[in-house]
Amino acid sequence: MKVIPPSFKILDFLDQQSLAVRIEHCGRICYKSEDRITPESALPFVEKMAEHGHNSVLEMGVVTLEVCADDSKIDELFLCQPKYLHISREQGRLLITASIRAWREMLLNHPDCAVVRAACALLHERHPYFFASILPEGGLIMPGISVRKVPLEDVERLPAGLLAKHRHIAVKFIVNRAVTHELVRHRPCQFLQESQRYCRYSEDKFGSEVTFIRPLFWADDSEEYAVWWQAMEETERLYFKLLETSTPQAARTVLPNSCKTEIIVYANLEQWRHIFKLRCSKAAEPSMREVMIPLREEFAKRWPELFV
Ligand SMILES: Cc1cc2nc3c(=O)[nH]c(=O)nc-3n(C[C@H](O)[C@H](O)[C@H](O)COP(=O)(O)OP(=O)(O)OC[C@H]3O[C@@H](n4cnc5c(N)ncnc54)[C@H](O)[C@@H]3O)c2cc1C
Repeated sequence: MKVIPPSFKILDFLDQQSLAVRIEHCGRICYKSEDRITPESALPFVEKMAEHGHNSVLEMGVVTLEVCADDSKIDELFLCQPKYLHISREQGRLLITASIRAWREMLLNHPDCAVVRAACALLHERHPYFFASILPEGGLIMPGISVRKVPLEDVERLPAGLLAKHRHIAVKFIVNRAVTHELVRHRPCQFLQESQRYCRYSEDKFGSEVTFIRPLFWADDSEEYAVWWQAMEETERLYFKLLETSTPQAARTVLPNSCKTEIIVYANLEQWRHIFKLRCSKAAEPSMREVMIPLREEFAKRWPELFV
């Protein structure tokens, strides 16, 4: 077995990549198949995700659009009650930040809404592989509505309130399963996590061992830590024994909270502020604070106006 400390990485390097590359990079965390990424693998990967309806992977691609339309068309959009679009409105202009999944579902559920059709027309022009299978009859062009993709540099220059709402940032955590279980309670975020159903830790690519996160509760030389260590060794032995005759999804039922799990959390800065408030406080679980407090410091370096 292997024991490692928890860690995190802000995935801002992905903000410079195409949506397909970004989605593939995040999506492969579930299967731990990052070794299959090649210069040509992104498009087939996202096409497969769209076709198979693995929709949460498509939540990892988010774009900001500027939409100019008549008030009546804008009202029509709000009547659709768009739950997963982040919208700011000012004088006939909308700023909308949303994921590919959100736009696909808007198109499927509200194909007659002019703003939805116009936004999806632009996205389809730029990324046909996301929309090809769900295009409505008659196409998507919608005269009278202008839609423009807002570049990330412009999003970064928005005033603080708009920046917090529209700037999304992904963070990859390597933490124990109890921490990921708490993270996924934050419903406005997008998540993808390593699947214990698909990963078989006896395989070479996992070093033929189970990895555990070192708990912060006990000193290395304490009796409690020795008990924990023994429990993990025994768990690994039993997990491997079950794998001799069972699938990973069956064998994983003996895996404990200490099991290492990789998770990507993607949210806007407003939501990250909320998460830090809850998860850095003294009432939060210590293993959660262990990663959240240093992460908040990193956010404060990047966006001091929002996180100091
Ligand atoms: C110190 C601490 C102790 C905790 N202890 C427990 C515990 O003992 N048991 C337990 O179950 N959980 C516990 N939790 C988890 C907690 O209850 C929340 O689920 C978690 O903190 C997520 O925070 P949230 O409520 O802000 O997020 P969410 O519940 O995701 O809400 C965020 C926002 O999303 C919106 N929202 C999303 N879905 C809905 C909806 N269906 N209806 C209305 N609004 C919605 C709301 O506007 C809300 O402001 C604990 C959390 C902390 C920090």
